[in-house]
Amino acid sequence: PDEPWLRVPDAEDVAAWWPTPGPLDDKYTRGVAGVATGSETYPGAAVLSVGGALAGPAGFVRYAGHAADHVRLRWPEAVVADRVSDAGRVQAWVVGSGLGTDVRAKGELRAALAADVPVCVDADGLTLLAEDPAGWLADRTAPTVVTPHDREYARLAGGEPGPDRVAAARGLADRLGVTVLLKGDRTVVAAPGGGCLVNSTGSPALATAGSGDVLSGLLGALLAAGLPAERAALAASFVHGLAGRYAAASGPVSAQNILASLRPVVHSLTG
Ligand code: AMP
Ligand code: MG
Repeated sequence: PDEPWLRVPDAEDVAAWWPTPGPLDDKYTRGVAGVATGSETYPGAAVLSVGGALAGPAGFVRYAGHAADHVRLRWPEAVVADRVSDAGRVQAWVVGSGLGTDVRAKGELRAALAADVPVCVDADGLTLLAEDPAGWLADRTAPTVVTPHDREYARLAGGEPGPDRVAAARGLADRLGVTVLLKGDRTVVAAPGGGCLVNSTGSPALATAGSGDVLSGLLGALLAAGLPAERAALAASFVHGLAGRYAAASGPVSAQNILASLRPVVHSLTG
């Protein structure tokens, strides 16, 4: 009788959740997303995650990190800084993909988690988080979202997700007090406390390098625009999955094709 809820949202749900600007909105009130990703070694992760964020409903995207020159050239609409602490106010951070795991990366993750705003931790950020999840998350009051694939889950949870992926995501969400987006064919989003959403739009076309960077960027923009963590995570997965299908309809898919497909998919859902 007291089973925690589990839902498979459809396009109508996602369209209803998707933030749309009103006549009184400006770029700040629509939400400022901060993206702390990439490095000299992995500038592509920064370009893809900022691109994902720009396809979302935020009004403003800030980038902080060592791929600033690449981001500046590819995305002139983003405002860039060298580090999180110099980036100015944001309403949500996405941190981790291509960041590396060195001292600088640790400092950037620490700075993002110290901000009293929702934070999405992905990729290298998850590797760092896995060293001491309770310690990293101890002072968090705003929502935290983690976006592991199976190997990242195993590091974070200390064991494979196993066949019951809903239970795996719920277990980790409850243990860490974070929203878990467990990636897969049917991506599972679990909120701490038992709620669970399952994405129905997966596509094998998404299994390509850089795909997850696009997803976490988009998720950051949805968080910045004020969507609750579990809806933001599901909506990002839903649109990302449709973008994979859309891109696959005209040939082999790379992460740039997924990125380019986000806008038409968002338009077809909400336009
Ligand atoms: P990442 O490994 O971080 O680049 O993320 C990969 C993305 O692709 C995630 O959103 C996964 O859910 C998605 N994905 C990977 N393989 C599949 C698959 N076989 N079917 C559906 N989605 C997939
Ligand atoms: Mg990834």
